[in-house]
Amino acid sequence: KVVTRFAPSPTGFLHIGGARTALFNWLYAKHTGGRMLLRIEDTDRERSTDAATAAILDGLSWLGLTWDGEPVSQFERSPRHRAVAEELVRLGKAYYCYAAPAELEAMRESARAKGLPPRYDGRWRDRDPSEAPVGARGAIRIKAPAEGETVVHDRVQGEVRFPNKDLDDFIILRSDGNPTYMHAVVVDDHDMGITHIIRGDDHLTNAARQMVIYRALGWEVPSMAHIPLIHGADGAKLSKRHGALGVEAYRAMGYLPEALLNYLARLGWSHGDDEVMSIADMIAWFDIGDVNKGAARFDFAKLEALNGVHMRRMNDAELLDIFINTLPYLEGGPAIAARLDNTRKAQLLAALPGLKERAKTLVELVDGAAFLFAERPLPIDEKAAALLGGEAREILRGAHAALKAISGDWTAAAAEAAIRQYALAGGHKLGAVAQPLRAALTGKSTSPGVFDLLAVLGREESLARVADQID
Ligand code: GLU
Repeated sequence: KVVTRFAPSPTGFLHIGGARTALFNWLYAKHTGGRMLLRIEDTDRERSTDAATAAILDGLSWLGLTWDGEPVSQFERSPRHRAVAEELVRLGKAYYCYAAPAELEAMRESARAKGLPPRYDGRWRDRDPSEAPVGARGAIRIKAPAEGETVVHDRVQGEVRFPNKDLDDFIILRSDGNPTYMHAVVVDDHDMGITHIIRGDDHLTNAARQMVIYRALGWEVPSMAHIPLIHGADGAKLSKRHGALGVEAYRAMGYLPEALLNYLARLGWSHGDDEVMSIADMIAWFDIGDVNKGAARFDFAKLEALNGVHMRRMNDAELLDIFINTLPYLEGGPAIAARLDNTRKAQLLAALPGLKERAKTLVELVDGAAFLFAERPLPIDEKAAALLGGEAREILRGAHAALKAISGDWTAAAAEAAIRQYALAGGHKLGAVAQPLRAALTGKSTSPGVFDLLAVLGREESLARVADQID
């Protein structure tokens, strides 16, 4: 049974790269009928905050990337990490090192002078513990193999070989009794029953060291997949300018979780020519072995286009739900939320098919829907004002009369018939009537079809808005 995990360090928000790592773990677990666990790697007490943990959980929840069981705190497990390190000493696979800071500095210095990476020389490896300085608390170092190589069989990177001469006897437990990150990860992954480790390829060199610990303990090494990091559209490391933001920023920009997941899944993974995928599609198709080795490039324009596609193909009631739930986070959203009564909800639902044709994000939807929530007299933007000047005013006066004369049901079809007849009779082009009408009804120069607007706004409000512009 597959068990994956997402193991963020709570030192900041859930950024977009982390979200993709979580997504791949989640998809692989779902695809195989397994589980995804969540581990908060909060051992760095200075930099870890509860606020960051909360932001990460919130980001995952918004995206729908659910985890199984309770989140595990790495910090709370440090007694176990310590016990395992001490067990390794008993087994003769690790040893206490009492090298003073000045000695270690001298080792680093001499390596630097030779142009080599810093390396511990193993001076306490074979010394008798009775030689320990009185009262000193040593650090525990693992006995790393000195010869041969350590091979990581990676499902994305292939066979990656690390010469053992480059792996020194690294510390697994610091002299203050705290585990190192390297050690804690191995013990936790083992204890949590993790079968598949999927994480950023910045952890690939750690994988070799972690294998040394697995071997020393006689534990089975989980299957590993190191996925390429996300780069900016220009190929440079992802920065804020490129989209290295917290997922909550994407929520505020009006992206749908499903569209963002679709976009992230396609960053580094593909399934034939399929661009637009539902979550069910992704689960059905995802396989970790199909992830590309090359760095993926983040492209806002593609994300936006994909978001528009997801909005249009989503069922209106569902889209309305997401829209309403997201309003508090969107610019201009809270004002709409405050005025959202049942009438307006119904109007919004009726207007949605037209609105979503013109919006690529929920922010654009707020903008498009603003006319429904506006107070009379409507604020008229510059372009709309231009459509209402001169001759247009007279045309609008006639249109008002024509609409007022509708005696049957107030529908888009009835409004269309009345306006067409009026335009024909007066020798106006339809556009010459529809444009000022749209400007009067919305205060804008673009909107869904004007007959739909009339239907959605209803008789009374429509006539009043038009009247405001002709008196
Ligand atoms: N906590 C690490 C990070 O946020 C991940 C460690 C791992 O996945 O093994 O980069």
